[in-house]
Amino acid sequence: MAERAAEHSFASAFPIPAHLIGQVQSRLAYVDEAIQTAAISEDGGTVRLELAGGLDAAALAALEAKVLQVVEEMAKGALPPKVEVLEDHMARPVPYAEDPMPELLARGEVSREHTGIYSLGPLVTRLIEAFERYFVELAAEFGAAPQRFPTLISAEKLDRVNYFRAFPHSLTFATHLREDLHVINDFAEHTHYEEAGLNAPPESFSRIQALLSPAVCYHYYFALADKPLPGGQLIATAVGHCFRYESSNLNTLERLWDFTMREVIFVGPADFVLENREGGRQKVAAFLERIGLAYLVESANDPFFVGEFRKQAAFQNAFQLKYEIRARLPFKDGSLAVGSYNYHQDFFGRHLNISLPDGKPAHTGCVAFGLERLAYAFLCQFGLDPAAWPAEIREVLA
Ligand code: AMP
Ligand code: ZN
Repeated sequence: MAERAAEHSFASAFPIPAHLIGQVQSRLAYVDEAIQTAAISEDGGTVRLELAGGLDAAALAALEAKVLQVVEEMAKGALPPKVEVLEDHMARPVPYAEDPMPELLARGEVSREHTGIYSLGPLVTRLIEAFERYFVELAAEFGAAPQRFPTLISAEKLDRVNYFRAFPHSLTFATHLREDLHVINDFAEHTHYEEAGLNAPPESFSRIQALLSPAVCYHYYFALADKPLPGGQLIATAVGHCFRYESSNLNTLERLWDFTMREVIFVGPADFVLENREGGRQKVAAFLERIGLAYLVESANDPFFVGEFRKQAAFQNAFQLKYEIRARLPFKDGSLAVGSYNYHQDFFGRHLNISLPDGKPAHTGCVAFGLERLAYAFLCQFGLDPAAWPAEIREVLA
């Protein structure tokens, strides 16, 4: 019989500042396999964990030490960042205030295949198609070249752009059986799913050459690597599956292991990238106004893991590298990032040797939308009855 989960609360060595509570909390999911949920009190002073049962005192002390290490590395002495709000339409009145998830599940519009893995039915699919119709138009206004990128991504290339150092916790690896008759026969005969995983011995699997892709625009930069940038500037667009393992943070459509992202990608000199990122923001703002979405756009940082978090998040903030579109979720009085405006400076240009006509490394940036999240936030604000949806979306559905 499975052991019952046990609650365990303890004081943080110092209060976790309000602006970091959410980010520290989501990192705690990765601290120990025994942690089922992690919550930090509103005053930042107490960590509350739900743990798989059966930990002895020594294991509990070791776990607590790891939690405190994360809290200390991410939060001790951290200064609140200057949050820059570029647009604030959070107070826009919207017609719906329920949690749409129970009804979506009941109607079979959303089916949970596994933690963080969902199938979507016709209503949500059409809604996403309506958003996609707009994004394709948006990309066309930039003259963006359409691209198709693979679902797998090269481990070698991700290493070149330091991905393993920045986001190790959310990686999803692709592997295959080793080319060995005994290994393959043994696997075929004995493998079953048990105890939340396959029972195959880890030695059956090959070394990792590929992962499931965590983002769309990386593929474009990889395709442009090690040569002069054709024409000195490029704009492209693509939609693709992205994978981010979010551990126990995976719940509802808010946070998925497997989701889809639409991106418009800019590569060229710094001013070209920045002007287009800003142009993209203004065009998207006009669209969100037409559909009446309640949202804001504010400066943000990527979800770096503990070791890189402080330095990288501060860097992104100082140089205004990332802004997020956060849509209101009325039922929980919260918000959810449905898209982002990103500028990577010449990071990819340097690491991948993409050169401008003057010999300098190219700058890059992108406008990215999470399609499931956009649909989910829309349903949170407008409900499941298309008759109550904004004309802009209904017209596309018709
Ligand atoms: P990012 O590159 O992190 O700015 O991601 C771009 C967009 O992808 C975000 O604004 C979200 O809408 C979406 N996204 C990122 N992670 C997830 C996830 N785990 N589940 C669903 N959507 C996600
Ligand atoms: Zn991107």
